[in-house]
This record gives sequence, C-alpha cells and structure tokens, in this order.
Amino acid sequence: MTRLLLIGPPGSGKGTQAARLAESYGIPAISTGDIFRANVRNGTELGLLAKAYMDAGEYVPDSLTNDIVRARLSKPDAAHGFLLDGYPRTTDQVLELDNLLAAKHTGLNAVIQLVAATEIVVARILKRAAAQGRTDDSEEVIRHRLDLYASQTAPLLEVYRSRGLVVEIDAIGEVDEVTERITTSLAEGDLTCTGDDDDESVA
Ligand code: AMP
Repeated sequence: MTRLLLIGPPGSGKGTQAARLAESYGIPAISTGDIFRANVRNGTELGLLAKAYMDAGEYVPDSLTNDIVRARLSKPDAAHGFLLDGYPRTTDQVLELDNLLAAKHTGLNAVIQLVAATEIVVARILKRAAAQGRTDDSEEVIRHRLDLYASQTAPLLEVYRSRGLVVEIDAIGEVDEVTERITTSLAEGDLTCTGDDDDESVA
C-alpha cells in the first residue's frame, strides 16, 4: 500500500515523474490537471467551468476540485494506493484529503517535494508550451501560476513537514536521475510498502 503526494511548482517535472513512479510502484498516478484537461477536451460541464480558471492560471475552486478527487479515489484501482500529482494545492484541499483518508482509516506514506528554481521552471514551461500548445503556458500566465504556487501551495509543505512526511528532491537534472533520487530516498526512509496491508495507518 503506497500513498504518495507529489508537490512542486509548475514545470518541476511532476507529470513526468508521476508516470514513472506510478509504474514502478504499481499504483495509479492521479493528476487533477490531467482530469481537468480531459474534461475540457471532451467538452463536459466540468471542463467548461474549469477552462476559464485554467486559462487564466488560477486555481479551479476547491469544491469542484475536491469533488473530482473524492470520486477518483473511490475507484477500485485507488484502493491499494495512489500517487496524487498536483493535489492538494490549498489548505482546504489538505483538509479534504485528510478527511477522505481518515474515513478510510489510512494515511499518506510520503509527500515528495520537487525543488526547482523559478527561472529554470519558467524556461522549461515555455519549451513545453511550444511542444504541446497548452493554453495556460504563456509567460504571463506562467508567472501567475508560480506566484499562486508560492503563496497558496508551498506553505502546505510545512503542514506535511510537521507530520514528518516530506522528502525533498532536487528536480534539476536528467529525468532518470530525478526518478532515481526519488526512489532511493523513499527506499532509504522505508516510505513505500507493498502487499495487502489495508489496515495500515501511517500519517
Ligand atoms: P497542472 O497540470 O497540475 O499544472 O494543472 C493545470 C491547471 O489545472 C492549474 O493551473 C489549475 O488551473 C488546475 N488545477 C490542477 N490541479 C488543481 C488543484 N489541485 N486545485 C485547483 N486547481 C487545479
């Protein structure tokens, strides 16, 4: 049973690392950003609501975001662990996740913090924007997303740090190197578990 969070500024490589970690731990990577983007693509009501916030680089309101995470975590594949990428991003979302996990008598194994300097992540995102054509990747919107991360999301790390859950990872380097740093740090801290240990509560 491995329950992980991945927290880091936009452009720190969360999505890339999430996919690799999910594969190696055999758990689903759940990205709220990906869920919103899929809804935008499919023209759902949720997508229409979320798009305006996303295009402006704002956070989608907590009520909507919490609803999709609650629904996603109740699917069978998340019953045996998960990696949340890009959630929680606000204090309200931390509370929601705490309540969700408490209701299941479970907790988190670790919170992976990807650390990367602002100028490096801005350069990375601009490169990604050119490659993927994301509508929330103009320089102005990127700067706003980074400001929001600093004011709303980075402080959440202190909450998790006080619970002894945060593993800080230098996110600069080759993709493989960063993955290796994460898996090594988690293994050293004995922070992932495998097997059918549903009753375990660690946070
Ligand atoms: P991401 O792909 O994680 O960078 O997310 C892209 C965009 O989706 C963000 O800039 C927000 O507009 C929205 N979003 C993703 N996750 C959240 C969240 N946990 N809370 C609020 N908005 C979110």
